[in-house]
Amino acid sequence: MVRFLVPLLAAILSISSASAQDWATVSTPSPGPTQSIGFYTAGCLQGAQALPLDGSGYEAIRVSRNRYWGQPVTLDFIKILAEKMRAAGQAHLYIGDIGQPRGGPAPSGHASHQVGLDADIWFERQPGARRAPADRENPRLRSLVNADDSGIDDTVFSQQHVLLLRAAAEMPNLDRMFVNKWIKQRICNTATGNRSWLRKLVPWFGHDEHFHIRLYCPPGNPQCQAQAAYSDDDGCGEALDSWFRKAPVTPPPAAAAKPYRPKLPAACQQVLKAP
Ligand SMILES: [Zn+2]
Repeated sequence: MVRFLVPLLAAILSISSASAQDWATVSTPSPGPTQSIGFYTAGCLQGAQALPLDGSGYEAIRVSRNRYWGQPVTLDFIKILAEKMRAAGQAHLYIGDIGQPRGGPAPSGHASHQVGLDADIWFERQPGARRAPADRENPRLRSLVNADDSGIDDTVFSQQHVLLLRAAAEMPNLDRMFVNKWIKQRICNTATGNRSWLRKLVPWFGHDEHFHIRLYCPPGNPQCQAQAAYSDDDGCGEALDSWFRKAPVTPPPAAAAKPYRPKLPAACQQVLKAP
């Protein structure tokens, strides 16, 4: 009996635990209508669409990573935000990772971005002519935070960043966005008028060179798993203060080397394997 069970179990395990490398290797989206399946950190995306690499007010960067795929709502969000910033006289936005052609875990970079509803937008702004996509692999991407993590770098940070974050936060389908604690603190200390948008800014590690937008599950995606609400108030009290009491994070090399392998919904197996 055991003789038969062991290979059977091994087969089942190998089916259910495709590696991040497997997801990164597939270079095209799966067929079918766009569907986000699972959770932001453990899911996949059927029928992904590609962000055009250039658009009004934005350009995609590091396109060799092939992570410019997402839900139509995410691509629309980027296009609308970029157009708003352009109309406000700002330089074009640098758009980084959205998701892989079929979503799923990525071998490097982040644990989320798996269902086509997350995207990274860089704080760096360079006025002037665009470069060809091939020349956008290693642009200068400055941090808004001092290198010793002592606070905001005011030689880089500007009111344009505040306007950008506010415009993104006030868009209707934004669930939350992740920013560095120093950025949240600066905005908590300086925002005037209607502060309800501050609730959408969630402090997280890193996120000092880019911010990360996360959209709600769109209607008609029954397998998309929503995230619990973050904060009812502006999040400037204890929710922020606790970040200044955390020890600095230095992930142990072993943990960093271990690939992130979340358990995905079974339906993602078809998304991965579809021709
Ligand atoms: Zn991100």
